This record gives sequence, structure tokens and C-alpha cells, in this order.
Amino acid sequence: MTAYTKPLPEMTPWSKKFWESTKLHKLSMQRCNNCGKLIFYPRKACPECWSLDLGWQEVSGKAKLNAFTVTMAGVEPVFAPDLPYVLALVDLAEGVTMMSNIVDCKPEDLKPGMDLEVTFRDCTDNISLPLFRPA
Ligand SMILES: [Zn+2]
Repeated sequence: MTAYTKPLPEMTPWSKKFWESTKLHKLSMQRCNNCGKLIFYPRKACPECWSLDLGWQEVSGKAKLNAFTVTMAGVEPVFAPDLPYVLALVDLAEGVTMMSNIVDCKPEDLKPGMDLEVTFRDCTDNISLPLFRPA
């Protein structure tokens, strides 16, 4: 693995399980044990009912492209080698919306509503980022 030089997510006590899951190339979401809502991004409390009783559920990684933008320029130098890259909102089959990058696809081939699946980029020994590609 080549050294990863871009910024990495900050691991918090409430996001630790998310990152442990992605390291295993699985996508997991918090689930409120009080009201059942799936939650992304990881938080200390349910945004629906404010319960602190939160668990975790593995999700399918299947998604549809909601919206996207193609970044062509104007980024920090560390991201410049990736240009152009796609920043997207993806709607998971389980009803959760995530922001991520779309990979393995030319930007001109992207269509809102297209089927996507999660894939993982191993960045460090502790962090694997969830990305999406055409299914
Ligand atoms: Zn809740």
C-alpha cells in the first residue's frame, strides 16, 4: 500500500464502530434501539428521538445516485492528482443518504438514479474509506 497523504477522518468514540466495519469492507450504520431509525453520520444521540440507546446494523452497500458534482479544479494540492473526481450524495437501499466519491466510472457516464455499490479504499492500517461505483 502506498502512503496515504490526504486528510483522514477523525475517529470518535461514537464513530469507532463505523470505521472498524469499513476496515472489514463492510458498511454499517447506527440504528436507534428506541425508534428504529438508521443514522448516518455516526452520532452520540438519535436525531429523531434523542435516545442515547444506539446500536449498529450492517447494510447492503447497494445505493442509487442521488446527485453529484464533478470537481475539476480549485482543490488543495494533495487532492490535485485525483482531478477530475466525483463528489456525490448516494441513497442507500436502506433509506440512508451518504456523501461519498464515485469511482470506476467516467463522470460523463453518471446518471441520477443509477445503481451503485459500495467499494472500499484501504488508506491506512486503521482507515478504509467507503466509496461507490456503478453496480
Ligand atoms: Zn430514535
